[in-house]
Amino acid sequence: MKLTVSDLTAGYAKAQVLFGMSLELSQGELVAVLGANGAGKTTTLRAISGLIRPWGGEIRLNGQSLAGLSAARRAALGLGHVPEGRQLFPLMSVEENLLLGAAFLAWERRQEGLEFTYALFPRLSERRGQLAGTLSGGEQQMLAIGRALMGRPRILMVDEPSLGLSPKLAEEVLATLARIKAEGMGVLLVEQNVALSLEVADRAYVVEHGKVVLAGPAQELAQDERVQKAYLAL
Ligand code: ATP
Repeated sequence: MKLTVSDLTAGYAKAQVLFGMSLELSQGELVAVLGANGAGKTTTLRAISGLIRPWGGEIRLNGQSLAGLSAARRAALGLGHVPEGRQLFPLMSVEENLLLGAAFLAWERRQEGLEFTYALFPRLSERRGQLAGTLSGGEQQMLAIGRALMGRPRILMVDEPSLGLSPKLAEEVLATLARIKAEGMGVLLVEQNVALSLEVADRAYVVEHGKVVLAGPAQELAQDERVQKAYLAL
């Protein structure tokens, strides 16, 4: 499966945020979208998921336009989204939160989803009866990712998973994304933590003012002087 975003424009009311955003992602790749606060990264994910309607440009899955398809339809086609801020239900258990991510699936598919998610995150399995609000920050982020995995997406979009986590937990969470990639999914990672993202990503896009200003293999970007100066404080 291949996701292609071309020349996307979008905004809120009259405020334009995306000015010709383009990117692509295939299954089996981990691609980072990097940039400062307000550059338009979250808006890009929301447009791909169908949570906001773009003003112009194209979003395609395997060449087929997603224009006019609801967020639910896009999820059913294989797009998973882990929103910024996790958005868990703190007074529900780990397992109840996971099952909410698969409410639209038949019972057997939900059981399969649980097995798959627990195999990837044994810690969630151990804590399946615990209230989500009592988990550590890193575990809550894994739960948010696990909930999106319940729908067995082929492409998973993850918004700022390291936000508010200690460096060690951030590293742990980003390492789980590499395991998700190894399962054959495509991962689109939106991050402000540029150094850590370039360590786990295959490729990356640097976004400024609603469009891509630099793109390439993650290792090359980590060596790029412009990236080092603007984002790595080297
Ligand atoms: P962040 O790391 O803060 O999420 P970002 O690169 O993801 O940054 P966006 O969240 O896409 O940036 O936001 C881009 C711009 O759009 C910002 O100036 C923001 O204030 C504005 N914006 C975001 N959501 C809304 C909204 N619902 N209504 C109005 N303006 C919004």
